Amino acid sequence: MRIVYTTGILLSLIMFSCQEKVKEEVNKTAAEIKDAVIVHEEYTKPEPTEPEGTEYYEPKVPVVGPATNGRIPSDAIVLFDGSSFDGWMHTEDSTAVKWNVNKDGSMTVADKTGNIRTKQEFGSVQLHIEWRSPLPVQREGQNRANSGVFLNGIYEIQVLDNNDNDTYVNGQVGSIYKQGPPLAMASVPTGEWNVYDIIYHAPEFNADGGKTKSATVTVMHNGVVIQDHTEIKGTTPYIGWPKNPAHGKGPLMLQDHGDDSRVSYRNIWVREL
Ligand code: MG
Repeated sequence: MRIVYTTGILLSLIMFSCQEKVKEEVNKTAAEIKDAVIVHEEYTKPEPTEPEGTEYYEPKVPVVGPATNGRIPSDAIVLFDGSSFDGWMHTEDSTAVKWNVNKDGSMTVADKTGNIRTKQEFGSVQLHIEWRSPLPVQREGQNRANSGVFLNGIYEIQVLDNNDNDTYVNGQVGSIYKQGPPLAMASVPTGEWNVYDIIYHAPEFNADGGKTKSATVTVMHNGVVIQDHTEIKGTTPYIGWPKNPAHGKGPLMLQDHGDDSRVSYRNIWVREL
């Protein structure tokens, strides 16, 4: 009886150990690079006396084609390639996009048709997007070529023609709308193409819907850092405080401000982080 009992315990221990090993292997893949760094940064060990003691070769870093000279990274998801609105829809009613595709491979807001969004949804991303304020210049302040890039579909990075056009600083070009002014105003002259390169980390929520970690955003505007790992305090409404509804992945959304903004976009791609 005792032998049977002991054998049972031994078998359970072996099975548990096997399951743990499988789990370990799965987790290892995702955490491999990070773990390797930690392991190799155990500075409490005796200090190596040879250069090889602080060098390691595994795991290999993935190879990604570069985003220079008009190329896009080899692992990027192209959201707009200049040919059609496949992959996009109107936010309000999910209908086909009524904005205009131009012969030069860009798109332009069609006034009062509504915001548009990608069908695909994302969490944390590296986003590249180019935009242009139109000539001739029309209107003043927030009504001059106003659009916006909404991360996760709800957090607006402002797009505005701010050239010789003052407005509230937490709503100027490159701001997290009504929250965080940019560190610099780095727009090109009106009529030329601007570039936003954005690194966005999505917020985290617990099971009860409470926010446990704020979203953050870094924005390079034409190569100039204008948001430096800035905390996003919540949604970016026109009126009122930021709100923090729990959410998962969301679309990239572009704004139709409804006042003949004539803003154009092109070369939009993301890499999921
Ligand atoms: Mg806007």
